[in-house]
Amino acid sequence: MNRVYLDNNATTRVDSEVLQAMLPFFTDHFGNPSSMHDLGDVASAAMKTARQQLQALIGAKFDHEIIFTSGGTESNNTAILSALGVMPGRTEIITSAVEHPAVLTLCAHLEKTSGIKVHRIPVDQHGRLDLDAYRMALTHRVAIVSIMWANNETGTIFPVAHLAEGAKKVGAIFHTDAVQAVGKLPMDLKSTAIDMLSVSGHKFHGPKGVGALYIKSGVPFHALLKGGHQERDRRAGTENTPGIVGLGKAAELALECMDEENTRVKSLRDRLEKGLLERIPKTSVNGDPLARLPNTTSVTFGGTVGEAIQLLLNRIGVACSSGSACNSGFQMQSHVLEAMNIPSTAAIGAVRFSFSRFNCEEDVDQVLQVIPGIVKKLQGSYPAPVWWAKS
Ligand code: PLP
Repeated sequence: MNRVYLDNNATTRVDSEVLQAMLPFFTDHFGNPSSMHDLGDVASAAMKTARQQLQALIGAKFDHEIIFTSGGTESNNTAILSALGVMPGRTEIITSAVEHPAVLTLCAHLEKTSGIKVHRIPVDQHGRLDLDAYRMALTHRVAIVSIMWANNETGTIFPVAHLAEGAKKVGAIFHTDAVQAVGKLPMDLKSTAIDMLSVSGHKFHGPKGVGALYIKSGVPFHALLKGGHQERDRRAGTENTPGIVGLGKAAELALECMDEENTRVKSLRDRLEKGLLERIPKTSVNGDPLARLPNTTSVTFGGTVGEAIQLLLNRIGVACSSGSACNSGFQMQSHVLEAMNIPSTAAIGAVRFSFSRFNCEEDVDQVLQVIPGIVKKLQGSYPAPVWWAKS
């Protein structure tokens, strides 16, 4: 059985060049980057290189605008808590209804425990942000706007550069969770009003447990982790040198092949979508048809349960992800599809396929061969009991 991995928005395979770059930092170059000897110097020089590699990928003006973190979740938490810390008179946050839990759960917590007012900007049926609602929410009470660059479930891209201009007008900090966009979309942060941006290494063929936060030079900042003087006092704790080296290498590779790979990956994604729409009745694609990540498709198979499709595909070696989450045996509807006003009977049949540069045409053809039969069987057996997954 040929394994097909189409769950690259969840995580990606570490590129072999990334792994090779990391290995010496577990062995010969094990020094602490803060140490004042040769081993420390090697580690700190490697971190400088990684910072420059990431700087090039996101188009930052200075490499010191980047701090390394443990991943997207920490970067998002740091950005939001920092903004509240440096703007004590401002007690509101603007975000969107379709953010990752790394933003939404923190916002809900702050709302409950600190009396912070959270504006969750709605989206339309294609997942596009309601720009009027955004403008209405922008006031001088807002400390931070945190709106994602691209959605992890549907791939819908938000006009973050434009949104950042609006935030500037009311003196709010603009942060974007770019975890799904970095390495997939061209970026030139120095020519935008974006103040902060979150990165996660494992989404673009780097290692897990390492990420970064871009903080534009001059933007006030309040460290989340306090302790040693690492990262210019902006993130305490001995740095994950092998991970950071891997993140840097992954950034370099992503920049090198972005244009070519985006075209190739988009053609694979489009081939899959076309094949599914042609072969399977009651099938539709979720997300903005115009502004969408080239690697992502969220497909609703009417009259089915996405989780069942995912499970049956997994049995024959195809990894993808369903649009709903199974929580203690109950189907939980995706908050993203719910915000898009997709009826729950349809949303429950959503499946996400996400590609990377390691996918090929044979992967698509293999999925197209097996999925019509699976869906046909399930369409005949709907409605499925909510506890089907346990049977
Ligand atoms: N933000 C988005 C949009 C994501 O897709 C993810 C991961 O799925 C995260 C944040 C969290 O990143 P990490 O896994 O590095 O903490």
